[in-house]
Amino acid sequence: MFKRSFKYTDVPDPLKIQLEAEAEQFAYKIRTEIGVPLDQPLDIIEIIEEKFNVYVLQIKDLKVSGFVRMSGKQKLIFINASEPLGRQYYTAAHELCHILRDLNKVKEHEKLDENEKKDAINKMEFFANKFADYFISPREALAKSVIDTGITNFNEIKPKHIFTIQDKFKTSYRQTVRMLNKIGVLSDSQRDDLSSVSNANDPDFLINLMKDAGYNPLLSLPLAESRVPDKFINSIKSNITNNRISTKKIEYLKGILSIDFNSEDGPHNE
Ligand SMILES: [Zn+2]
Repeated sequence: MFKRSFKYTDVPDPLKIQLEAEAEQFAYKIRTEIGVPLDQPLDIIEIIEEKFNVYVLQIKDLKVSGFVRMSGKQKLIFINASEPLGRQYYTAAHELCHILRDLNKVKEHEKLDENEKKDAINKMEFFANKFADYFISPREALAKSVIDTGITNFNEIKPKHIFTIQDKFKTSYRQTVRMLNKIGVLSDSQRDDLSSVSNANDPDFLINLMKDAGYNPLLSLPLAESRVPDKFINSIKSNITNNRISTKKIEYLKGILSIDFNSEDGPHNE
């Protein structure tokens, strides 16, 4: 469920404006509820795992960007660890939105006819993306990060300033540029100019630019291996010990996680 789709053209423009405003307010409401200030960046994976008791599994070579699964009563977010890390964090926030607001709608959607269902899913996906935008980088925090760069004339913003800001929010380069345009810091032509250094056909160009400017390109790179939280592995091990898990499920998890649950250490990293 909730496989990521990028066809939002079916959401009418006026509705997009309305949904975006709602998603922004929802993102701030959730931040406030969990006590994360609106003027600060956050560690999305840590927040999801600690504040919402949801495990985030970053798995290499998933066929999609991310999805939500239930393991008994435990909610899991699967993220494609082969995508750039900045994008993985964005996907994590997107999936969190589905958990907070959409999980109970799945049954309602089943009652709709095909077109109504498509509309409902398009709206839901659009909303989850806007939630991710503002949950990760609220206007207030983003504005503060621009001021912190010491720039007094926004026309002078260069890729290195974007690198500094994206390092704070753990966002991709393109996403950072897009958000700065959204809050009025970058004009549309500046956005297009700055975005042009990030090209899917030549990802090394941006990576080298970052390295040359003295920045770590981690956010533009995939994870070297899958990352599964220790808590999750321990809960599976305990279920195995207490015979609370089927052999079929253990085999499934072994396959997807490349973990031998009988050994002491999984291949997870920090
Ligand atoms: Zn989604």
